[in-house]
Amino acid sequence: MIPFSRPKIDEAIIAGVVDTLRSQWHSTGAKTKLFEKELSAYYGAPATLCLNSATAGLETMLRWFGVGPGDEVILPAYTYSATANVVLHCGATPVFVDSGTDFLIDPTAVEKAITPRTKVIIPVDFAGYPADYDAIFNIVNKAKHLFNPTTTEQQSLGRMMVLADAAHSLGAVYKGRKAGTLADASVFSFHAAKNLSTAEGGAIAFNLPQPFDNAAVYTQLSIHTLHGQTVDAMAKILRGEWRYDIVEPGYKFNMTDIAAAIGLAQLPHYNSQMLPIRKAIFNYYQQRFAACPWAQLPVLSHGDTETSYHIYTLRIKGITEAQRDDIIRRVYAAGVLLNVHYKPVPGLTAYSSRGFDMQQFPMAYDSYSRELSLPVFYELTDEQMQTVADVVIAEVEKTINPS
Ligand SMILES: *Cc1c(COP(=O)(O)O)cnc(C)c1O
Repeated sequence: MIPFSRPKIDEAIIAGVVDTLRSQWHSTGAKTKLFEKELSAYYGAPATLCLNSATAGLETMLRWFGVGPGDEVILPAYTYSATANVVLHCGATPVFVDSGTDFLIDPTAVEKAITPRTKVIIPVDFAGYPADYDAIFNIVNKAKHLFNPTTTEQQSLGRMMVLADAAHSLGAVYKGRKAGTLADASVFSFHAAKNLSTAEGGAIAFNLPQPFDNAAVYTQLSIHTLHGQTVDAMAKILRGEWRYDIVEPGYKFNMTDIAAAIGLAQLPHYNSQMLPIRKAIFNYYQQRFAACPWAQLPVLSHGDTETSYHIYTLRIKGITEAQRDDIIRRVYAAGVLLNVHYKPVPGLTAYSSRGFDMQQFPMAYDSYSRELSLPVFYELTDEQMQTVADVVIAEVEKTINPS
């Protein structure tokens, strides 16, 4: 069986974890701080806060901006549920919008969805391809007169916040700029299935404009995501000071040094070795499916915009959702695990039971119903790639030309 995904594991990662275990410092400490610095340097953002997940990062930013009941947050229907769940956690209202044929949030749909209650837009860099941030920033700047700030942060920003769900896009480039610098804040995921895994983990890259001090926001949110405690455990040990205060009822969202060690072992090789492996797999699939008239290929780059090669999304022209599911079952029987990204969030029970309806997002539904995600992981061999393409082509053709 060829799996869909597998986290990268090598001797450097194992050595990093063992070294951290032996060091006796397992929770948030020097390794997490170093990983934050190296991430910031990698994409060129002024500050990065590492947390235990991207979901925690998204919720942290919504709460920092004071998003709550009565507020609206605009996001694509075509995303993972976490992007929407955090909006509900804050008591705010998710406002879903449709996507373009590129799977990405449609800026025109965003513009139409803005109301005087809109506080945040969450573009999603789906499959690793950056959303159109220039178009989105133009829209939020044009809609300043509709923005009703109710907190100091909202007043200082003076417009809707653009919060990138960059869970897929570490290493992606938009018009020459790296993901992590494209929005007011960008949230990465280091979940086991993502390009760079720390088993579980995430990070907020801050890129807030003047008058914000990104380093000060980083410090404030470090406290907010670790109980609201003024002195962290590391500082307590270093200074031999037991006294601390809790300045707010904070969250427990911090990253462990064990997780950071897994990330630190990969980041120096991410651009030079890891992304090229993914790119080669994507290019192989592109070349195989380009020969199939029924295949709708993903766009991987355009000018100086380039994906991070996270999910290879193949769409089959003219098939139904049931036919797609049937193809996945037959491909599985032939030894290859495929996946689907994603069923649009309004179609999931937690959302349909709240009155959302997937049929109102016809483009998202169309992409979803014809989509197959193919295996991409670091140890995928040339022979396995060939098997994946052979099996997918054979099974799709059985559906398209039944004999
Ligand atoms: C994985 C993912 C998340 C959540 O990441 P976690 O680190 O698991 O919290 C959010 N958004 C998208 C689009 C994702 O794929």
